[in-house]
Amino acid sequence: QSRDYQENEFIQAVGDVMTSVAPVMEKAPEYRRHGIVERLVEPERIITFRVPWMDDMGRVRVNRGFRIEMNSAIGPYKGGLRFHPSVNQSILKFLAFEHVFKNALTTLPLGGGAGGSDFEPKGKSDGEVMRFCQSFMAELFRHIGANTDVPEGDIGVGSREIGYLFGMYRKLRNQFTGVLTGKGLGWGGSLIRPEAAGFGCVYFAARMLATRSDGLSGKTCLISGSGNVAQATARKLIEMGAHVVTFSDSSGHIFDDQGIDAEKLEFVKHLKNVRRGRISEYIDQYAHAVFTPAAPEQPSNPLWQHRAQCVFPCATQNEINKQDAYHLINNNIKLVCEGASMPCTLEARDIFLDKGILYAPSKAANAGGVAVSGLEMTQNRIRLNWLGEEVDNRLKIIMKGIHDTCLAAAEAYDRPGNYFLGANIAGFVKVADAMLDQGVI
Ligand code: NDP
Repeated sequence: QSRDYQENEFIQAVGDVMTSVAPVMEKAPEYRRHGIVERLVEPERIITFRVPWMDDMGRVRVNRGFRIEMNSAIGPYKGGLRFHPSVNQSILKFLAFEHVFKNALTTLPLGGGAGGSDFEPKGKSDGEVMRFCQSFMAELFRHIGANTDVPEGDIGVGSREIGYLFGMYRKLRNQFTGVLTGKGLGWGGSLIRPEAAGFGCVYFAARMLATRSDGLSGKTCLISGSGNVAQATARKLIEMGAHVVTFSDSSGHIFDDQGIDAEKLEFVKHLKNVRRGRISEYIDQYAHAVFTPAAPEQPSNPLWQHRAQCVFPCATQNEINKQDAYHLINNNIKLVCEGASMPCTLEARDIFLDKGILYAPSKAANAGGVAVSGLEMTQNRIRLNWLGEEVDNRLKIIMKGIHDTCLAAAEAYDRPGNYFLGANIAGFVKVADAMLDQGVI
C-alpha cells in the first residue's frame, strides 16, 4: 500500500478483493508462501506515453496515454481503453485489477488490463478525435497484439474511436487481426458486443431475483449514465417488461415518470451516439419529464432519491455513496446490479450487504461485455461471424455460470447469497491457482 499511497481507486479495488479472500488465504497457506497477493497487486507492466495531436485550429495538444498490463496468468491482457479527463494511473490500475477477476469469472482465457488517456472526446470534432486516436495508436501498437493484449472500449471509447484505433493499427502492422474488440460489424466485430455489458447485467439481475421467486416485469428501475452500458441495460429491461424512469450524464439526470419506452430509448441513442448531445435535451422532446442538473458539491445525488425497486448504476466509479445508499434503502429497493465498474463506495456496498438486499458487484454483473469481447476474439480467429442469436445464447449461459459460481463460492465460505464475496473468491482462486502452476514469475 505504501508504494501506491495516492492511488485511492486502486487501493479501494484491492481492499475489496483482499478483505473477501482472507478466509481463502487461511485455508490455503501455499498462496502466502508463493507471494500470490504481492504479485497480484503489482502490474506485470505499466506503459505511459506522450500523445501529441493537432486540433482544428492548428494548435499542438499533448495528452498522456497509458496501458496497464496487470496479469496474464490465464490469457492475453484484456480490458478497456478509457478517454476521459479524469483518467490517471490509479483509475486505470483499479480497472485493470478488476478485469483480472472479472475476466476469470467468464471462464474464457482472458488476462486483465486497462488503458486510456486524459483526453476529453466531448466537444471535439471527428477529425480531432481521429488524429488523437491515430497518435495514441502510433505508440500503443508496439505493446499490443491478438495474443498479447487486446484492448476494447470503455468510457469515451465507442465504435467511432475503436474504428480509428483499428485503422491505424492495421496500417502500422500491415495485419488484419483481432487486436481490438468492439469493432464494426463489417470489419471483424461481433453481433451483440455493443449491447453485451448491459444485456448481461440484466440477465444477472433476473437470475438474482429468481432466487427469491421474483422477476423484473413491472419493476421500476433507476439507471444512471446514458452511454453504451446504460442504453443496453435500458433496452433489455424494457424488453423484460420493467419500467425504466431515469437516465443521466455528467450534467444531470432526467426523470420520466411515464417510463422510458423503446421509442424514447431510440431518441436517447440518437441524441447521445449521433448528435453527441446532453441528456437535458430529453425534456425538449418529452416535456412531461423533469431534468435535474448535477450538483457534485451536494452530499448526495438526487437521482438515487426516486422511488424504485431496482437500481442499475451504469455511469462511473463511486457514484453511489453512503447517503445515496440510505436514500435507496429508505425507498425499499430490492436490488442493486452494477453496470458500471465499482459504482458503489465501500460504505454504500456495506449498507446494501447489511440490509440483505440483492447486490451484484460489477466484476460479476458487467462481465458480459468482456465475455462477448472474448467471443469476438474467437470469431476473429476462426474467421467466422456467429448469428446474433448464437452470441446472445452464449452470453446468457456465461452470465448464468457467473451467477451460479458466485453463489456456490459464497455458500462454501458460509456467506450464502453474498455475491460480492462469492465473485471475489471465485475470481481470485482461478487466477491464484494458475499463478501457482506457473511458478514465481
Ligand atoms: P460511455 O462513455 O458510453 O458512457 C458513460 C456515461 O457515464 C455517460 O453518460 C457519461 O456522461 C457518464 N459519466 C461518465 N463519467 C461521469 C462522471 N464522472 N460523472 C457523471 N457521469 C459520468 O461509457 P460506457 O457506457 O461504456 O461505460 C460506463 C461504465 O460501464 C464504466 O464504468 C465502464 O467501466 C463500465 N463498463 C463498460 C463496458 C463496455 O463494454 N463499454 C463493459 C463493462 C463495464 P457524459 O457523457 O456527460 O460524460
